[in-house]
Amino acid sequence: MSYKSKESLSEPSGIKEPEKTYSQVTNFRRDPKVKAWVLKEASGKCECCNSDAPFTTAEGEPYLEVHHLRRLADGGSDTITNAVALCPNCHREIHYGINKSSLVDSLYKKLSRLVHE
Ligand SMILES: [Zn+2]
Ligand SMILES: [Zn+2]
Repeated sequence: MSYKSKESLSEPSGIKEPEKTYSQVTNFRRDPKVKAWVLKEASGKCECCNSDAPFTTAEGEPYLEVHHLRRLADGGSDTITNAVALCPNCHREIHYGINKSSLVDSLYKKLSRLVHE
């Protein structure tokens, strides 16, 4: 759905008491050392746009998110050659943006540790 045709949207009343839904999620056991290494390597800057992390976490670390270029769900590995540290904006964009494939290409070009899976 596109949100462009605003004029046809009437104001929704919403749901006062939303019902609970339950879903089953599959998670992957990841290596915490891979995440720690990638975050350290990024040293507080997004590896995509080079901006500083947007905030400091309660633990005193710059907040960046680790993204797997080939998704674990698609058989990607949890290794430093498949993971990058991104700011939340770039992370969302690399998942949902119209230019996501060019962002991925530029990361592979920029970071020599990455290996195509
Ligand atoms: Zn970024
Ligand atoms: Zn991701």
